[in-house]
Amino acid sequence: MATDYDVIIAGAGTGGATTAYTLAKRGHSVLFIDRKERDNIGNKTCGDALGSHHITQLRDLVDIPELPKGIVEYEVNGIDLIAPDREHRLRMEGPTTTGMSFNRLKMGQWFVELAEKAGAESMASTRVKKLLFDDGKVSGLRVSKEKGPDKDITARVVVDATGATGVLRMQMPETSPMERHIASEDRMVAWRDIYETPDFTFDTPDYLDIFWNQDETLGGYTWVFPQGKNRVNVGNGVMTIKGHRNPKDIQNDFVKKTWIDTWGEVEVLDSSGGVAPIRRPIDTMVDDNFVLVGDAACQVNPIHGGGIGSSMLGGAHAGITISEALERNDTSIESLWKYNPRYHNSYGGKQAALDVFRWFLLNITNDDIDFAFKKQIIKASDLLDTSMTGEVKFGAGEKFKRLVSGFGKIPLLMRISKVATLMNDIRAVYLDYPESPKGLDAWKARLVPIYEAAKAA
Ligand SMILES: Cc1cc2nc3c(=O)[nH]c(=O)nc-3n(C[C@H](O)[C@H](O)[C@H](O)COP(=O)(O)OP(=O)(O)OC[C@H]3O[C@@H](n4cnc5c(N)ncnc54)[C@H](O)[C@@H]3O)c2cc1C
Repeated sequence: MATDYDVIIAGAGTGGATTAYTLAKRGHSVLFIDRKERDNIGNKTCGDALGSHHITQLRDLVDIPELPKGIVEYEVNGIDLIAPDREHRLRMEGPTTTGMSFNRLKMGQWFVELAEKAGAESMASTRVKKLLFDDGKVSGLRVSKEKGPDKDITARVVVDATGATGVLRMQMPETSPMERHIASEDRMVAWRDIYETPDFTFDTPDYLDIFWNQDETLGGYTWVFPQGKNRVNVGNGVMTIKGHRNPKDIQNDFVKKTWIDTWGEVEVLDSSGGVAPIRRPIDTMVDDNFVLVGDAACQVNPIHGGGIGSSMLGGAHAGITISEALERNDTSIESLWKYNPRYHNSYGGKQAALDVFRWFLLNITNDDIDFAFKKQIIKASDLLDTSMTGEVKFGAGEKFKRLVSGFGKIPLLMRISKVATLMNDIRAVYLDYPESPKGLDAWKARLVPIYEAAKAA
């Protein structure tokens, strides 16, 4: 059946725009739609920080050009993880921690322009309302503009890149193998302010600070990301577990007293809240004629909440896989399936391992974290390796056992050892993702005991 486009992408954030760019560059007809005005796409509540390796990885995969001047506001060399006692810190520093704090709107605009220049058609100020189905399979979208009647647009493949809401994913039928709803405990809510600080100078704006404090930001953290000597992006995020506090209240109370008030007079440049999914990726990110990308596919790092790089990676893998499926003239779930293992091999396996670690972090106290930092139980280099690959080299082997016998807090150390094993277990399950949808249920069953153990660890 003839369709209006090969592919329609709902959402023109970093995930949707990368998908559009990848497909248009391969010669497919692509429409990408966003509810925001064209000049405002990319403007979003964010920490505005990104590791440079994400851009390099994207360049290798889909050949994007150099970032133009004006997007990067400050080069970053590393991240300091700071214990609740604020005396002990782990400096994460190395080739993989170099990065940037950047102008969010300019970055978003650049990605949209890239896709447009490659030949994708953009449609702004347009809300995607409804998935259309033909014979039970996705066939297009109903969209609405501020003025005029709703419009139906058809495509061979529809991509949901609408961000944390996953507007289209939620409309999939119950018979779909794709999960539609995200549990509340798998979401992070956050608040952040951007300030000019004329009375205060950040000495090391090339290091980003992440502060843990379980009493204030259980399961999350406060970030202080300087954007130069006299500007800062400061915020906090918490998991939406039962009884969680509102991050705006935390910002106006704990964060204000502890950091903001120490900077003298500040000028507010922006102040807003946001949501991100914090979990492993959606178990299958494809169905017949339908694909998920970015936050809609839960492609966010569950520990630090960064999702720009992984949404671009997801967009690139999705674009490549959809292109291959279009060329085969087969956009069934089987034909699109390869997107799942492609993403999992490059990021999803690590994401799942970090999700297991997230559950462990929820169950430890400030005292435990202070102890772990003080005794240097986990070295920065180990943590860096784990954060890049998801493979855990700490907490196991003879050396760790000797360490355990030398310290108090045996239960904590044993728990670290246990969680390290679980992280490696889940990563191995991800690297053994089924080759076709037929294996999905059996594969999902392998995740259950790992999560049960992680939540109890
Ligand atoms: C407070 C906060 C701080 C963060 N800080 C960082 C950080 O420092 N670094 C980092 O890497 N990540 C960070 N993240 C995560 C990051 O912002 C996301 O993971 C990333 O933007 C995901 O990209 P996306 O394209 O999937 O979604 P989005 O960037 O959210 O894009 C989705 C697009 O879809 C559009 N849309 C939604 N619904 C509709 C509809 N019905 N019709 C039409 N269009 C629609 C939206 O307008 C939007 O443009 C942060 C998240 C939060 C909440």
